[in-house]
Amino acid sequence: MEFKSFLIKYAEIGTKGKNRYVFEDILCKNIRSAMKRVDGRFTVRKEYGRIFVDCLEDYDFDEAVNALQHVFGIVGICPVLVVPTQPWEELSKKIVEFVDASYEDKHFTFKANCRRVNKEYPMHSMDVNIETGAVLLDAFPELKVDVHKPDVMLHIELRDNIYIYSATLPGPGGLPVGTNGKAMLLLSGGIDSPVAGYMVSKRGVNLEAVYFDAPPHTSPQAKQKVVDLARLVSKYSGAVKLHIVHFTDIQEAIYHKCPEDEITIIMRRYMMRIAEILAGENDCQALITGESIGQVASQTIYSLQVTNAVCTYPVFRPCIGMDKQEIVDISEKINTYETSILPYEDCCTTFVAKHPVTKPKLEDIEASETLLADVIDDLMKEALETAEVMSVW
Ligand code: ATP
Ligand code: MG
Repeated sequence: MEFKSFLIKYAEIGTKGKNRYVFEDILCKNIRSAMKRVDGRFTVRKEYGRIFVDCLEDYDFDEAVNALQHVFGIVGICPVLVVPTQPWEELSKKIVEFVDASYEDKHFTFKANCRRVNKEYPMHSMDVNIETGAVLLDAFPELKVDVHKPDVMLHIELRDNIYIYSATLPGPGGLPVGTNGKAMLLLSGGIDSPVAGYMVSKRGVNLEAVYFDAPPHTSPQAKQKVVDLARLVSKYSGAVKLHIVHFTDIQEAIYHKCPEDEITIIMRRYMMRIAEILAGENDCQALITGESIGQVASQTIYSLQVTNAVCTYPVFRPCIGMDKQEIVDISEKINTYETSILPYEDCCTTFVAKHPVTKPKLEDIEASETLLADVIDDLMKEALETAEVMSVW
């Protein structure tokens, strides 16, 4: 069966009272922009607390479903047959055709579930259910009715038109992006930070991202990899404004002036400081990192405390309690894994100490940072002024 429409199901946003229409409008807008990635022409309309995507030209079904499966806020995607309001004699034939075209093998149980919103329709919903059962059993004797646990729930909605659907493909869940402010993601080329961005974006948060680039210690391919990762995350989050900060001079200053075992943690603190400044300048309410407790020396709980001490914004670390494999599983699901494991050095691996501190003390680190006092303000200023900005999607 060639479907010309999808009925979009959404859950959490149904619970937001008066704000509901704002959420729905943002979801419609996000669906429209996701469908721009798909060949064909589509319209998105909101009706009776439902969203419909209508396909105006030939299109690829899998491609369209895939685009919808990247729009947070959608919990279910139902390919739906839409027919004009018509007498039961004709409608019953459409229902039979629908079941015939949708299911090659008819050995399953079903239940008809009619909703009669159009009170003018001459049959009550109960009668539609009973009659649907009768015509289907008559047409396909292999079918069985099960009103408690049917394999297939056949929905017939009588509205301005009549909507017939039975399959629900899963959506990504979450809340529509744009309903919950914006956050600045510290995006490296690794596995964790794209996953972290995806997870926060899933709660309706717009993303900007910052990458600390350290040429010539890091290559153009390392930078391109981050751009590619931002693009992959943007399939879920929508366009990402990516800031590329030239971090080499700051990193070299830290490397030359600070104790070797502290360079990573001090570097992390400067990243957070710069990210927070960019967050402030760009109307973000929080920072996001891919940190996970104990993963490396700079992510022991002691190191996290010292890194966090430079921030006044909330720092979201959605991977914090996850094992590496759990993070990998998500990165595979969201299609960032293959890009993340490309073997380009990142700036942290270039300047890494043999024995980094695992229990840094804030006073010690602050004392070491005073060794940068004569240069750091200028270097920070320059890093901010020379940052490249691009919109990625
Ligand atoms: P990831 O897999 O995200 O790269 P990681 O395991 O390599 O994480 P670290 O290198 O310790 O961990 O970095 C911890 C977090 O700091 C990263 O998840 C990321 O949010 C941020 N970060 C690290 N390096 C950079 C960078 N060059 N640019 C932007 N953010 C960075
Ligand atoms: Mg990394």
